Amino acid sequence: MTIQPRLQDNFVAPNLSDARLASPRSYRMLIDGKSVEAQGGQTITRESPGHRGKVVGEWPAGTSADADLAIAAARRAFDQGPWPHMSGAERSTILHAVADKILTHVDELGLVECLETGKPLAQAKGEIAYCADLWHYAAGMSRGLEGDTHNAIGANRLGLVLREPAGVVGIITPWNFPFIIVSERVPWALGAGCTVVVKPSEWTSGTTIRLAELALEAGLPAGVLNVITGYGPAVGQALAEDPRVDVLAFTGSVRVGTQLAAIAAAGIKRVGLELGGKGPQIVFADADLEAAADGIAYGVYHNAGQCCISGSRLIVDNAIRPALLDRLLDLSRRLPFGDPLGDTTRFGAMVTRDHLDKVAGYVRTGVEEGAELLLGGEAVDAQAGNFFAPTVFDRVRPDMRIAQEEIFGPVLATIGFDSAEEAVALANGTPFGLSASVWSRDLETAVQTTRKLRAGRCWINSVIDGTPELPIGGYKKSGTGRELGRYGFDEYSQFKGIHMTMGRPQPWFEH
Ligand code: NAD
Repeated sequence: MTIQPRLQDNFVAPNLSDARLASPRSYRMLIDGKSVEAQGGQTITRESPGHRGKVVGEWPAGTSADADLAIAAARRAFDQGPWPHMSGAERSTILHAVADKILTHVDELGLVECLETGKPLAQAKGEIAYCADLWHYAAGMSRGLEGDTHNAIGANRLGLVLREPAGVVGIITPWNFPFIIVSERVPWALGAGCTVVVKPSEWTSGTTIRLAELALEAGLPAGVLNVITGYGPAVGQALAEDPRVDVLAFTGSVRVGTQLAAIAAAGIKRVGLELGGKGPQIVFADADLEAAADGIAYGVYHNAGQCCISGSRLIVDNAIRPALLDRLLDLSRRLPFGDPLGDTTRFGAMVTRDHLDKVAGYVRTGVEEGAELLLGGEAVDAQAGNFFAPTVFDRVRPDMRIAQEEIFGPVLATIGFDSAEEAVALANGTPFGLSASVWSRDLETAVQTTRKLRAGRCWINSVIDGTPELPIGGYKKSGTGRELGRYGFDEYSQFKGIHMTMGRPQPWFEH
């Protein structure tokens, strides 16, 4: 196997004079249908992670007073209506209209998402279009939300189960897929009849604010969807602490999720947590190696590896390990990465310089712990942006930090196996359980292996795939609760049992 630790040829240098970087956009929060500044007047400016020195957006640095107003607005919109009391058909029509608005704004939203996150423009536009489908799906399903009847609990008794909206939902989102993550939660919460306050990441708030504005234009009543921007402790924490918020849906790191779950528990608040991952990709000896190499590259490099469902651990049969790694290294050397606005770019920039330094620190740790660095491992053109080279480690031991911890960068850890049992044990051998892939031409091997994996989202012969119909969520430290599909609505519903008695009830005390 050829070892090539340095690589630059496939780097797409950013063009800092691209006209699309010329006009930074300015946003305000949306509270109770009104566009507002932060009460302290402070703002956050965002520089493109892939174009050093280019400011692309500015939004309010909200305060706890802003959070208070947003929660009050959502509470009023829930308690006084009309949203929770509208018919499913009326709500569904509005949610479909939001989806249509998203579709007519793919170019605008895609560019904003690209410049704030550092992801390639084509990928960003694809994500926005996918989100329209999420909204359409939730809109359609929300018409069919139903309860239950129990007709066999006694001749004089009938039981009803009413599905009711859970109330005010606080949604906190991260920076890696801002529009997808908000769209995997908000239409389900709204479809169930809830009202919402969203707190997007301080680095990537633009598209979430635009979503709320578009929803208002599409006919969503004021106060039903509010957006507050700013830093987590200043504005996000209120959504966990405030008793007027009934449900907290948090997506982000295990560290912050743990803190917020503890705060929410003190108030007996319902919490859904979508946290980190360390996704295994198990490759059996009978797999289609071309397809597997391509899938492994996609699984680890997509979004520069800043993906909770990354396939960041390659768990491969030792019989094919050299052959698969050869293919993967060849692909990795040719994969264009760099300028988020480049036409050929497959992955762009890391979200911040600090995050890039953290990824570089993990690579140093991997080398110190004795793993073999086959490719990459370093920042590229740091003067122009936060770029990190595709990085492949081999001979990783399962107890190494690069095998156990979420690196959140384009860094692959390869571990060999000699039996199917060992592969499953390795795959399940981290604190996470968000996603996993199995590559095999034999359906029995693939299905039986998948059944043993402790992960909420599994793929057979693919990776990072998604569709609104199937649930997502974590086992173990990857989280609690499920989003999407019909399951997502349950997170935002209350179920009330009604016991009906016909005729005169049996007296409790005969006299
Ligand atoms: P993070 O936990 O640092 O931040 C997430 C959000 O929480 C941000 O909006 C942030 O402002 C807010 N926040 C921070 N401190 C807070 C506090 N004290 N109170 C309230 N809110 C607070 O995570 P991140 O760095 O933005 O995102 C990366 C992480 O998210 C990774 O671990 C990744 O795996 C995870 N993630 C999970 C999923 C999933 O669906 N499971 C999806 C995407 C990302």
